[in-house]
Amino acid sequence: ESGIGKHTLVDSLFKTNFEHDQLDQPAKAVTLTSNTYELNETGVDLRLSVTHSRGFGDQVNNADGIKPIVDFVDARFDEFLQQEFKPSRDLKSWIDTRIHACLYLLTPTGHSIKSIDLLALKELSTRVNIILVIAKSDTVSRSELDEYKQRILNELDDNNIKLYSFPTDDSDDVAKLNEKLNAEVPFAVVGSRTEANLGGQRVRVRQYPWGIVEVENEAHSDFPKLREMLIRTNMDDLIGKTHHGHYEHFRQQNFSKLGLGGNADSTVSEAYNKKLAEHEAEKQRIEEAMRQTFVARVKDKDTELQRAGLELNQRFEKQMRQVKEQLKEFEEQDKRISTELEAIRAAMADLNKDKKKDKKTK
Ligand code: GDP
Ligand code: MG
Repeated sequence: ESGIGKHTLVDSLFKTNFEHDQLDQPAKAVTLTSNTYELNETGVDLRLSVTHSRGFGDQVNNADGIKPIVDFVDARFDEFLQQEFKPSRDLKSWIDTRIHACLYLLTPTGHSIKSIDLLALKELSTRVNIILVIAKSDTVSRSELDEYKQRILNELDDNNIKLYSFPTDDSDDVAKLNEKLNAEVPFAVVGSRTEANLGGQRVRVRQYPWGIVEVENEAHSDFPKLREMLIRTNMDDLIGKTHHGHYEHFRQQNFSKLGLGGNADSTVSEAYNKKLAEHEAEKQRIEEAMRQTFVARVKDKDTELQRAGLELNQRFEKQMRQVKEQLKEFEEQDKRISTELEAIRAAMADLNKDKKKDKKTK
């Protein structure tokens, strides 16, 4: 609901002040807005989309308030489903817009979960990983919080609502950590946009006349745990569970829409395989057509090359012929010049003889 601390929490989680209108006005209808941010989280580039639902719980008649949110989650699944069935899907430009985690904020002062929240959680928990948090937990005492947490868990249990639980099937340290985290759900968190200098560091705080609440301090709230599990340890698991759990569920329920016949579980994989086979055949047909076009092109190119080669040969031979003719001409010229030179030399010799004769006679 408006003012529960949604924007402040998201800003605190990603250590930014995202651009958005600061205060939600109580709204007449539930609206959803999405923004995408490129973040760098300890050296890892992160593409984060945040969808805010505004006005849920603000109406006098709350019963239908959850519908726009449920429809939104389904629409994202549907987008993915449509992409999956496109024969020429381009995986590189394919952006996964499904909702991988839903932070559901409860008011801190509740005696128990409000019925509107129970109804909403029932609808949402079959579609998306729910991470339940108690907002503004700095406004209630620790013992009250512990009691509240326990009552929440009991009520969820009574209504058969399953929250996202952290994976504990690995044998490593993460599994141990997750086991601890599971026992502390729902997280009681604090958010803030105000920063202060504590021990030489800029940290997010809430300042009160009697002291300071540090957002990142584990002794003050469960916020650091939420941050750790959401961004570091379990991001992969959230994505995996969305795909293999919630999305799979959606897909099975929507197979009839795609003209695949009934939606009974047993026929789903059959229908899926049939559709895949159709696409495979279509793909092969296109590939064969492309291959043939290619072969034809190569043939064209071949004859073109042959023609070009022939021309080149002819030109070369002609040039060679010309060169040979020139060479012959040169040789003839050479011969001619040689004989002429010979004649001149002979004439010179004769001339010299005549001169000697002349001297003697003188
Ligand atoms: P939104 O309408 O749900 O987005 O709520 P906002 O994030 O805009 O917060 C509404 C008001 O609650 C603001 O004045 C916040 O400073 C305040 N607020 C947010 N988080 C906390 C918190 O953890 N503790 C307290 N005491 N106040 C908070
Ligand atoms: Mg807001």
